[in-house]
Amino acid sequence: MLLEVNDLRKYFPGRGGFFGKTPDPVHAIDGVSFAIQEGKTLGLVGESGCGKSTVGRSILRLIEPTAGTIRFEGTDITRMPSKEMRNLRKRMQIVFQDPYSSLNPRRRAGDIVAEPLLVHGVENRTERRAKTQALFERVGLRAAQMDLYPHQFSGGQRQRISIARALALGPKLIVADEPVSALDVSVQAQVINLMMDLQEQEKLSYLFISHNLAVVEHVSHQVAVMYLGRIVEYAATKRIFERPLHPYTQALMAAVPMPDPANRRRKQHLGGDVPSPVNRPKGCHFHPRCPLAQERCRVEDPMPREVEAGHQVACHLV
Ligand code: SF4
Repeated sequence: MLLEVNDLRKYFPGRGGFFGKTPDPVHAIDGVSFAIQEGKTLGLVGESGCGKSTVGRSILRLIEPTAGTIRFEGTDITRMPSKEMRNLRKRMQIVFQDPYSSLNPRRRAGDIVAEPLLVHGVENRTERRAKTQALFERVGLRAAQMDLYPHQFSGGQRQRISIARALALGPKLIVADEPVSALDVSVQAQVINLMMDLQEQEKLSYLFISHNLAVVEHVSHQVAVMYLGRIVEYAATKRIFERPLHPYTQALMAAVPMPDPANRRRKQHLGGDVPSPVNRPKGCHFHPRCPLAQERCRVEDPMPREVEAGHQVACHLV
């Protein structure tokens, strides 16, 4: 297994607190476990604010987890010293949602892509230039574009630059945090196809974080559905999309437009917003929005259970 995450937690200190009372912590991630095989993609879905991006950043230790373990290629990296961790980051990279704000506008595209090479010891300028040129070509950009600045590229091209930078050191895992959400629909398909081609060529693994179920269904081998810092359903993509079992997954899928009326999923309206992770509802955190909630759901927290081989669900009724 390339990546194994076990009972990962990230609590942020709460703000305020009245009459000397310590404020409650924010449970951004609250006991998340999953694994990613080499050359495979895990799609992590859920509404904004559910903790998906915090999971991605915690895995790379861009933010420090509060508890749990992260194993990468069999090594426990949860408390790895930062010097060793910097070295390991060659093999674990991240691509952000907004390619414009993640690229320095004052640097040429070629220098942006070459930067990780320089940081990790490729000091020869000619060698660096040749490697950067090859990276540009691998992501569908021309070598002549290396001298341009980020604002001279389209949104899709800027995301290609981000991907080239992430590929520079030959990573095994890329955390792709909403990598196409900021792009036009036509461009999204091109960037996704590029990522899938690269996966095949390089045996890359992705943690693909997105709120867009159609995209996740297309790219993922496994899917984990997150709600308020927890995974509520986890299974192979085909299984979860054919037979979602958790009421939250069902509601998310019902919200995806289906072109074929014969194939329409049962409508399950998802009302309200995700509650605050500071004041999480007691019992099942989803109960205030769940159309199937029962008395038990208000008091008892459902634990994830394997309901069939490789399919986990956290719901009293499943
Ligand atoms: Fe709904 Fe109850 Fe299942 Fe939670 S445990 S998802 S409230 S039915």
